[in-house]
Amino acid sequence: MDFKICIIGAGVVGLAIARELSKKHKGIVVIEKNLRFGEETSSRNSEVIHSGIYYPAGSLKAGMCKNGNRMLYEYCEQNHIPHNKCGKLIVTTHSDQLPQLNKLLAQGMANGVENIQLLTKEEINESEPDIYAENALFIPSTGIIDSHRLMKQLYSDSLTNGVDFVFQSRISGIRKMDKGYILNVEDGTGSGDQFTSARVINCAGLDSEKIARMTGIEDEANKLHFCKGEYFKLAGSGIKRLRHLVYPVPDPKLAGLGIHTTLSLDGSMKLGPNVIYLEENMYDYSVDPSHKKTFFEAASKYLPFLEEHQLEPEMAGIRPKLQAEGEDFRDFVIQDETSRGFPGWINLTGIESPGLTSCLSIGKYVGDMFQESKDIE
Ligand SMILES: Cc1cc2nc3c(=O)[nH]c(=O)nc-3n(C[C@H](O)[C@H](O)[C@H](O)COP(=O)(O)OP(=O)(O)OC[C@H]3O[C@@H](n4cnc5c(N)ncnc54)[C@H](O)[C@@H]3O)c2cc1C
Repeated sequence: MDFKICIIGAGVVGLAIARELSKKHKGIVVIEKNLRFGEETSSRNSEVIHSGIYYPAGSLKAGMCKNGNRMLYEYCEQNHIPHNKCGKLIVTTHSDQLPQLNKLLAQGMANGVENIQLLTKEEINESEPDIYAENALFIPSTGIIDSHRLMKQLYSDSLTNGVDFVFQSRISGIRKMDKGYILNVEDGTGSGDQFTSARVINCAGLDSEKIARMTGIEDEANKLHFCKGEYFKLAGSGIKRLRHLVYPVPDPKLAGLGIHTTLSLDGSMKLGPNVIYLEENMYDYSVDPSHKKTFFEAASKYLPFLEEHQLEPEMAGIRPKLQAEGEDFRDFVIQDETSRGFPGWINLTGIESPGLTSCLSIGKYVGDMFQESKDIE
């Protein structure tokens, strides 16, 4: 066998798993189709360290996010990764949104999110004098992070622990053997090669369903739906500086968290992301400038200083969603496929938000799955 463990995908999740497993195991390879790590969803997001308030109690998203939040701050401190635990306000702009805010408060408490506060009008004014809000929850554990520096550190830790990285190499075919798997790989020039691995961890993000299908895992219940989120940056004079992230109450089905402010570590601010389900799961990172009006209308409810001309198209990311348009909440899927006839295969699907926040706890979770199974050799 060429490798003990093959990890497909060097996004933040693949990198975190590589780091975690390499503390105990040798013979790990990470295969990435792009030239560098983290060029897809992991570098096209809000870079928010979420608290875990949004997700149903008992879900993987709630648990992974809550633990991942704590683990990520510790990792940032230990490794000097730029971050800011700035806290976040979830605001209502109309009295009929208050029940939703109270529901979030109860859910956050059930999920163990610490120190959430329902602010009075005076407290809202003190913390963010330039916003409009009738009511607000303050969540001190939310923050922002330099996701590139995070990935660089995960990559560097993995290299130090002996992980092999192969870039510009796309997995193009997979065959199950009596023990382990044969993986076909194509490099940037189109020429191919193959290797064997005892175990495979599929964290190919948007392509995770395609990779699972290559192996023979057809799973109607876990079909992916690409869902674009566009961002508009705020530029020009007259923009007030906010100290906290400011979010509206979310869509009840959690397709998105609502068009919100995102602060960068350099103090600049952007708005987004919206929710656009893409037809036929295509890679479409365009930002439609005509969406400016919708962004303005959504955000000016709580940012009264905003003027429409201050919004400029910035970038977009694509969520790998298990939840089809209009459907209810879906959880992360992190599954050992041994019982379905694919021993040593772990599938990660639907790792949308809060995947960045959860990367270290997902790494730990997958590490624990390895501890439980004895047949790693
Ligand atoms: C708009 C938006 C906003 C978000 N905001 C936040 C946020 O604020 N906070 C938060 O916690 N989360 C957020 N997320 C979610 C977070 O970005 C993702 O959960 C996380 O980046 C997923 O990482 P990943 O490693 O699973 O996937 P990816 O980053 O997509 O990595 C998968 C990798 O697999 C590689 N790959 C695919 N196919 C192959 C193949 N055949 N062979 C070899 N390699 C392959 C790809 O090239 C890619 O590098 C957001 C997501 C979006 C889209």
